[in-house]
Amino acid sequence: MVLPLMSTAIVWFRNDLRLRHNAVLYKAINRHEQVIPVYIFDNHYFETNEFGFKKTGPFRAKFLIEAVADLRRNLESFGGQLLVEKGDSATVLKTLSQQYHVEAIYAQKEVCAEELAIEQAVTKSVSCPLDFTWTSTLLQPENLPLSIAELPDIFTDFRKKCEKYVPIETELKPINAIKCPENIPHHEIPDLNALGLEEPEVDTERILDFKGGETEAWNRLNQYFWQSEELSKYKHKRNGLLGADYSSKFSPWLALGCISPVSIYHEVKRFEKRIIKNESTYWLVFELLWHDYFRFVCAKYGNMIFWPGGIRNEKIKWKWNAELFEKWRLGQTGVPFVDANMKELLQTGFMSNRGRQNVASFLVKDLGIDWRAGASWFESQLIDYDVCSNYGNWNYIAGIGNDPRDERYFNVVWQAKKYDANAAFIKTWLPALEHLCAEHAIEPWKTNDKLMHYPKPIVQGRFMK
Ligand SMILES: Cc1cc2nc3c(=O)[nH]c(=O)nc-3n(C[C@H](O)[C@H](O)[C@H](O)COP(=O)(O)OP(=O)(O)OC[C@H]3O[C@@H](n4cnc5c(N)ncnc54)[C@H](O)[C@@H]3O)c2cc1C
Repeated sequence: MVLPLMSTAIVWFRNDLRLRHNAVLYKAINRHEQVIPVYIFDNHYFETNEFGFKKTGPFRAKFLIEAVADLRRNLESFGGQLLVEKGDSATVLKTLSQQYHVEAIYAQKEVCAEELAIEQAVTKSVSCPLDFTWTSTLLQPENLPLSIAELPDIFTDFRKKCEKYVPIETELKPINAIKCPENIPHHEIPDLNALGLEEPEVDTERILDFKGGETEAWNRLNQYFWQSEELSKYKHKRNGLLGADYSSKFSPWLALGCISPVSIYHEVKRFEKRIIKNESTYWLVFELLWHDYFRFVCAKYGNMIFWPGGIRNEKIKWKWNAELFEKWRLGQTGVPFVDANMKELLQTGFMSNRGRQNVASFLVKDLGIDWRAGASWFESQLIDYDVCSNYGNWNYIAGIGNDPRDERYFNVVWQAKKYDANAAFIKTWLPALEHLCAEHAIEPWKTNDKLMHYPKPIVQGRFMK
């Protein structure tokens, strides 16, 4: 007697490495008798980009490996498994779909060029249907009061049209069992070496010790919301630069989808009921709308987000100067506030929002260098790199994106005085400078040629005045 084949589907995990509130997984489990959860370390993301950087640098790769390991453990705790592969997504999924006679492949919908190219290659190579679901935003595109083509080009206009009117989904019912075929092989998760990278030296003293995975995302949320109740102070601390708790630090987990913005939203609402509702609790959701907004901007403008003139298609001739760029990248511009931030990024893979705005503005507006080089360094280095947030914010700062103010300029010295008044941040990342300043009784943000071992600024920018 030939046993009837069980209805089998592949759940192709992409940037949605979680079980809780994951519509892709939920759909597949509810429609099929068994599922094959798969994660593919796609070779494309470990190549070198046009500026010579690894597309995924060691900090993010390490975080990703941890997130995949956590996903595997969590699937196993519900009776499931995770098939881990390394290669080309289209080839891997073609082989698997044939081998397991799958009826369909379920995956998260992405919006940017490289991710769409992978989706298209997969669609071409497999013979079963693909079901893509949008899972990474707080607001669902189908609930917006306007189409993506009508998305306002100014965030405030978008927010005003949406924040009071668009319903937030309730969280999906928790999954209680996952049935997988018995013969799924247990492949080891590639280590950094296998991905062509070296183990980074992680500085866990000066920043939050980021660990990838859904479990760690919830640990962070529990710590930030319920244990320390730091959420209640978010609005006043979010421009900070030093330490673990000046902001939520949710971004690396959001970028890989270890936690959904929808879950964060409902936790904020619980916090408001049980602890306090104030401008800080409102502001965290406000920031999640920025995260949504850049994803919708990318859906609207497609590849323009990567164009030299950005989504406004400005006709700007960017300069290129390899030496200046390298100084910026390595934190050697001679402007302490810029250098301290760039050192933090170099040594940890993280930088505050205030820092990112300043160093990006400095590269573009003071050095006049092509913003795409800066964005691609961020892409390689940031532990929380998210294509939409990164390129969207760079467009904004470069004056070719969604900023309603045409000539926004961050005066890095003014900013240092305001946000690092006692130079604690600069001293943390530039210890040699502290020593020199003490010797010469000089305030660090006023570095000048008296500091023999600290170079003069590499440009005479507007910030000097
Ligand atoms: C040049 C530049 C590049 C950036 N690149 C990235 C990136 O690759 N990935 C990334 O997640 N963020 C990026 N940001 C946005 C922002 O700096 C980070 O989201 C934030 O610093 C992360 O820290 P947090 O989670 O503690 O943020 P919080 O202040 O706690 O905010 C909570 C969440 O809101 C969202 N958010 C906050 N600010 C922004 C913003 N300006 N744009 C989009 N979402 C926002 C993030 O998801 C964040 O995790 C960039 C900003 C700039 C200026």
